[in-house]
Amino acid sequence: ETLSSCYFMSDSFKKSVPKICTSPIEMILCLDHKQSMYCQLLTGLLQRDHVVSVSSIFGSVLARSIKFLEDYWNELCSNIRTGCLSDWITDPGCRNAVSSILTRPNPELADTIEHICGNESWEGIIKKLWPKAKYINSVITGTMSQYISLLDFYGGGIPLVSPSYGSSESTFGINLNPLSNPYDVSYTFLPNMAYFEFLPVDKDGEEKARESNLDGVSSQWLSEMINANGNVEHVDFTNVKLGQYYEVVVTNFTGLYRYRVGDVLKLTGFHNNSLQFQFVERRNSVLSVDMDKTSEADLLKAIRNAKRHLEPLGFIMEQCCSIVEESLDFTYKSLREANKIAALELRVVKHGTFDALMDFYVSKGASINQYKTPPCIKSEEAVKVLNSGVLEKFFSPKTFFLS
Ligand code: AMP
Repeated sequence: ETLSSCYFMSDSFKKSVPKICTSPIEMILCLDHKQSMYCQLLTGLLQRDHVVSVSSIFGSVLARSIKFLEDYWNELCSNIRTGCLSDWITDPGCRNAVSSILTRPNPELADTIEHICGNESWEGIIKKLWPKAKYINSVITGTMSQYISLLDFYGGGIPLVSPSYGSSESTFGINLNPLSNPYDVSYTFLPNMAYFEFLPVDKDGEEKARESNLDGVSSQWLSEMINANGNVEHVDFTNVKLGQYYEVVVTNFTGLYRYRVGDVLKLTGFHNNSLQFQFVERRNSVLSVDMDKTSEADLLKAIRNAKRHLEPLGFIMEQCCSIVEESLDFTYKSLREANKIAALELRVVKHGTFDALMDFYVSKGASINQYKTPPCIKSEEAVKVLNSGVLEKFFSPKTFFLS
């Protein structure tokens, strides 16, 4: 059972929902995510003056909700205007919960929302629709950092707060500096949640031991970590080193023993006797090409870099391919120069293609709350979904020179 479903089903959550949330529990637990999202947006709009923060577990869900609003705001406004809920909402829990909030026709509110949503630009839409919202509360580190600029745009200047870092295996840490730059968030570990150990890895997620075996060198720090069998030793909470990268290993109360969650973290600081880590990447998201390991974090950085260079120029796609490549690491570039890796290809997909990908995974049983855009896709069916949205393909120049 995932952390979020465990939490959502708990009595304490059910009791706290009416105090902290505009969405009644029946909507949160509704299994039809379209009906659930529609009704949660409706009740959120009806109670717009009470909303002090706009939240979802992951930033991707918030981005998806705004997209949903784009498609449904006309219908939502018509429900608010008439005081009647659309017929296609058939889930009894949702209908029942809406009926206690949508109690009368409210044409003034419908006009206001129509006016806001009818504006050509949706910049700052969250602030306009929920004027008392003080912050956006959503995980936007790691894979989710790709949504930062979008949520900044919709938020219109209200801060993005990434509250915590956790998984189904354990809660790891909380963000004690909620207003920190979204690209710079560190989580302070909660040492009482589980027994944490750390496996030293290099920046690209390779275990240190393997790296040192390859080069035949082992620095003093590394040799301390390697035991007589040549394996990397786990280190505990008190033996980690500032600035180093680690994979987190969990022994928890439900019986997992030394479970490798697969996340790579960087130790950035201390809080009293606890540790503060920056989330770097999911280890299993590393893309492998020959000897090259291009990590998801590297890829996200390269794309951000390309976007920054291109925005003032308009979109010159071939140049974009080149800038992405130039932003990747030395191994990639060397292999590319030696022609071991072919020219980088960027495919432009039509609007909504990544939503279709999410729908595909949700139809296969993924939870919309838990969904994270996969950085690397092996399923042929999923590749088909992406390919069916391709509008254009661009390549970097055939030959590449190391600069
Ligand atoms: P799940 O196993 O579906 O509960 O998802 C847990 C995973 O989500 C973690 O192992 C991380 O990879 C990712 N995750 C959770 N919280 C954060 C966070 N604050 N920043 C980055 N990634 C996160």
